[in-house]
Amino acid sequence: MKMSTCTLCPRACKVDRSKTKGFCGAGSRPVVARAALHFWEEPAISGTCGSGAIFFCGCNLDCLFCQNHAINHTMIGKEWEPDALAGLMLSLQAQGAHNINLVTPTPHVDSIIPAVLQAKQAGLKIPIVYNTNGYETLDTLRRLEGIVDIYLPDLKYVSSEIARKYSDVENYFSFAGKAVLEMHRQCGILSCDAKGIAQRGLIVRHLVLPGSVDETRRVLDFLAENLPITTHLSLMGQYMPCHRSNEMPPLNRRLLRREYDRAIDYCLQLGFENVNVQALTSADPAFVPCFTGEVEVERENLMENPFNHE
Ligand code: SF4
Repeated sequence: MKMSTCTLCPRACKVDRSKTKGFCGAGSRPVVARAALHFWEEPAISGTCGSGAIFFCGCNLDCLFCQNHAINHTMIGKEWEPDALAGLMLSLQAQGAHNINLVTPTPHVDSIIPAVLQAKQAGLKIPIVYNTNGYETLDTLRRLEGIVDIYLPDLKYVSSEIARKYSDVENYFSFAGKAVLEMHRQCGILSCDAKGIAQRGLIVRHLVLPGSVDETRRVLDFLAENLPITTHLSLMGQYMPCHRSNEMPPLNRRLLRREYDRAIDYCLQLGFENVNVQALTSADPAFVPCFTGEVEVERENLMENPFNHE
């Protein structure tokens, strides 16, 4: 891809990012809002030692309820060259991270690919996790084949109308649906080591939204029809109103217990065998990382992992 006409994601802004910003707000070099061992991902990702999370600034969606809105379209921190990013990955590995968890990486793949290759040459051995909102092109994903070990995409919506209202994107599913299938083609069903730590494969995330259980059913139907029933799912109940969610009821309230139960029941009815669920107490601002642009290669506050408490 030529950064001078950016088409890294389906927005296809075709802007020269060294001179102007596209929808995601990212420039020509990545800005890292936070890098730290992270303990609140799925158990196979966070394990006992933490996931080496690198949170990038800039996003190609604009979700009304974004928990990370502080870095969604705002650059907090400094720019990182690929060789410095490679050093950051090695540093997280040296701290004991189970993996390198690239959070909202897509606008930065032109820097991430050389950084990962350089880090691997210098001794990076832990898996690379691609933690994305799912709004991806097949062209960009194909460039990541052999680079990424674990895909951790959201599949947020099927309905164009809901995607437009909630995330300012109409064609989300037409790209995200195909993206998830491509991720499965590349990495397959999740495989873990003897301690249950993910080594390779796909985990699809879906956040159940207030008033949207029917949309959750559509997402689960698509997955059941198109992927093996052994595909790993993370059915998340941690929704809490934040950012601009007050503009769009029922996003202005928390998920109800009965809504989450309906979503879980449907998932199990479809026959999915590997499903992570959450305690509804995980809908707590305490689980939102603090973004300062600082790189902390230290352990985060060791709160209990919110997954697998149902
Ligand atoms: S990565 Fe950013 S600039 Fe490039 S097409 Fe996507 S939203 Fe536009």
